[in-house]
Amino acid sequence: MLRVFIAFLLLCLFTVRVSPALAQSLIYESGGVLTPELAATNVHYYDLDIKVNPADSTVLGSVEVHFHVVNPSNRIELALDPRLAITGIERIKHTETTHLRYIRSDTTRTFYVYFNQTLQPGSSEILRIHYEGKPRVAPRAPWDGGMVWAKTPSGDPWVGVAVQGNGAWLWWPNKDHPSDRPDSVAINITMPDDLVVASNGRLRGETVPEEGWKTWHWFVSTPISNYNVTLNAAPYEIISEPYESITGEEFDITFWVLPEYLEKGKKLFPQFAEQMRFMEMVAGPYPFRADKYGVVHSPYLGMEHQSIIAYGANFENNNLFGIEAGFDDLHQHELAHEWWGNLVTAWDWRDFWLHEGFGTYMQPLYAEHIAGKEVYREMMSYIRTRIIDETDREVAPRESMSSLEITRGTRGGNVYFKGAWFLHTLRYLVGDDLFFTTLRRFAYPDPAMEEVTDGSHMRYATTDDFLYTVEAVTGMELGWLFDVYLRQPVIPELYATRRTGYVRLQWIVPEGYRFPMPLEVAIDGEVVTLVPERSGVISFEVPDHIEVEVDPNNWILKNVRLGFEGE
Ligand SMILES: [Zn+2]
Repeated sequence: MLRVFIAFLLLCLFTVRVSPALAQSLIYESGGVLTPELAATNVHYYDLDIKVNPADSTVLGSVEVHFHVVNPSNRIELALDPRLAITGIERIKHTETTHLRYIRSDTTRTFYVYFNQTLQPGSSEILRIHYEGKPRVAPRAPWDGGMVWAKTPSGDPWVGVAVQGNGAWLWWPNKDHPSDRPDSVAINITMPDDLVVASNGRLRGETVPEEGWKTWHWFVSTPISNYNVTLNAAPYEIISEPYESITGEEFDITFWVLPEYLEKGKKLFPQFAEQMRFMEMVAGPYPFRADKYGVVHSPYLGMEHQSIIAYGANFENNNLFGIEAGFDDLHQHELAHEWWGNLVTAWDWRDFWLHEGFGTYMQPLYAEHIAGKEVYREMMSYIRTRIIDETDREVAPRESMSSLEITRGTRGGNVYFKGAWFLHTLRYLVGDDLFFTTLRRFAYPDPAMEEVTDGSHMRYATTDDFLYTVEAVTGMELGWLFDVYLRQPVIPELYATRRTGYVRLQWIVPEGYRFPMPLEVAIDGEVVTLVPERSGVISFEVPDHIEVEVDPNNWILKNVRLGFEGE
């Protein structure tokens, strides 16, 4: 997701002003500390069966939760917005159905389901939760999420849902933690029969439950994060073409577009395959070949919903970076998340930069691919202006974070932009060959995994996993680089002084950190690479009339401070 940070600023201001009673009210966030009740279960399958009615903005239906018991427990923890009523929870055991007791609260998403006897590790359970109501309407999708009940230009319903930053519990009951993706999900959506419903995975069929309504049976055959489960409905037109993966397999690229935008959609459509080809070259085969690659015209800017990317930009190139890059960067960003976020997934929100830093860096890389190194550098320069100097919040904290905590304040932007610049600097340090091998191996650690489509290729990852991959590929020790850029907030400073006949450059990082970063220096136009001494100092003699430029290609994320002669 691409965030607009003013939203967080407003949120912070608002939080300060609310009364103490309101301050204790429901927090729309996902994940955080894994409680014992969450850790007791491993959900392997959800079956959603929901009627969605645009006429009164309601949902009504049931969700089956199939889980394995991991630790003994008498109760399990699930989440659903208190504004949605639970009308019953059944335990399904063989042919028997029994009703279970549950406890909810108005002030938290969490509810507990109680069992008469301790659940035994290794056993499996199925719950069916019946619920109904009016889900939260997104105040500002996709940044502040929920349902989106929009109208097409012709006045027809145009429905979407985006909940990444807030949690899928806003519209269906589930175990809310990023560390537990189900292995597969059935998404059965019933809506008025004049609408086309596009969702994740493959369409297994359509049925008519009652006159005027149609049920769309979608099925996701691989693990999927709860926030990626989505629905989109409108009188869509469909543009679809087969695409041949770099593996030789064929799958469909399909675009659900509003009829009013069909011509614009046709014009944009070829970019999807071109960008797909590039991402496959960089990060390996498209991970969800068993399902499809879908893009759906959405009533909000965008979201990386697995195999059904939400696209709500304006069908023009250059949405994000303020420069002429010559491609639809919003689509490219969301597509990139199919690898960085959906194939490789942070199991705690603290490592969200693995989604967004990587996701953002793919746009300059693509710009370089189609328009050359200069455009790449221009885009990196723009991204540099979005990094905020920060002394409190590091990009990759070590403690557990909820979805709101990791995007709070300036960290919200730095997760994207400092994350992207970290990769840029890493590329400089290790060189192109090893850098691109690292990207590919981080997506698919074992080349054999690139042949797999059944979900066993999908992984959870952390920042330390990425460090492990980089070090394994490069043979370099790079803990210092990760520590300085990701584990503490202060950007390294290059303190540069020039005395008569002499230049002195010194890396300054906070106490306890090392930063032996080699530095390119252009001396009279000739670029040399200089390695600092243990003290972080690089010094050399040079006549006063010779021009000296440090880091002329702007590879290193740093602040430069100029000292005065004689200081
Ligand atoms: Zn994103």
